[in-house]
Amino acid sequence: MNNTNHPVQDIDDIHWILGLLQNFEAGLIVVDRDQHICLWNGFMENHSGIAASKAANQPLFKLFPDLPERWLRKKMEGVLLLSNTAYISWEQRPYLFKFKSHRPITGNSPYMYQNVTLTPLSSPTGQVNHIGILIYDTTDNAIAQQELQAANRRLQSLSRVDGLTGLYNRAYWQECLEKEFARFGRRQESSCLIMLDIDHFKKVNDTYGHQAGDIVIQTIADTLQKQARKTDFIGRYGGEEYSAILVGTNGANAITFAERLRMEVEASVIEYAGHTLSVTISIGISEISLEQYSETEWLEEADKALYQSKQSGRNRVTLFSDSQ
Ligand code: GH3
Ligand code: MG
Ligand code: MG
Repeated sequence: MNNTNHPVQDIDDIHWILGLLQNFEAGLIVVDRDQHICLWNGFMENHSGIAASKAANQPLFKLFPDLPERWLRKKMEGVLLLSNTAYISWEQRPYLFKFKSHRPITGNSPYMYQNVTLTPLSSPTGQVNHIGILIYDTTDNAIAQQELQAANRRLQSLSRVDGLTGLYNRAYWQECLEKEFARFGRRQESSCLIMLDIDHFKKVNDTYGHQAGDIVIQTIADTLQKQARKTDFIGRYGGEEYSAILVGTNGANAITFAERLRMEVEASVIEYAGHTLSVTISIGISEISLEQYSETEWLEEADKALYQSKQSGRNRVTLFSDSQ
């Protein structure tokens, strides 16, 4: 605005500003203390279908009964009381006004995502009696971010390896399990499924920190990998839980394998930041059989055997039997 205070120039300035606000590519509303609408720009007219002449002096919450009234009132009270600007991001609340999204190309969002700013407006005497509400259309950003997240999820399931341990991740290991179970249907060569869980692992995290816990998880993964054959399928099933398929191994040999592993873990120490940690593991084994209806049942049997190992005192190996 000019500094000369020339009256005609001032009126021109206001006219231009109103023109700009009218055509501004964001929603602009001004409400008074009672949430009556004082200004409603072209963006709001276009997206709500309500003309400025209709919106003028209407209570905002009466015109838009879908608005989160209690929550928004509180926000507005804060803005007036503290004379502070408040921001509402689409990540926190996808939209304030439910407008259709006009994105024919991207087209995968039914509504317009919005970032909203509530700004206190002071009168020439310095009193804050009005709030300016600015609504930015952030649909493009939101869609881009959601697409990125979806792509990352797809990538993760495509990758076979668990980042921390280098073992197969759960999704891929489960694919191996399905294949091995199907193969048994054709060849009927024995295989064993092993579930392994670190004992009282929470204590490791609680005492030495999460990083120490991660090192323990890695160390046991390495031990497991070293003991197994190249043809076995070794996976990280969950946090501190591992799963393995010992291909072509019967129950008795799987017990020998598991006992050796259990004793090696029990006897080994892990150095971490000047501390010496040692943990034990519990193991459950299930041998594949014709009685198992599906690979899920094979897995459940190993899980039951693992539970048995935990129940009977941990640091032990259990082979599933029908009596369990
Ligand atoms: P239990 O002998 O019954 O197995 O006892 P537990 O303490 O091992 O019990 P539980 O299996 O419930 O606890 C597993 C803990 O492992 C909980 C979780 O915080 C931790 N955890 C899971 N994933 C990770 C990881 O990637 N790194 C670390 N450091 N900790 C993990
Ligand atoms: Mg555990
Ligand atoms: Mg566990």
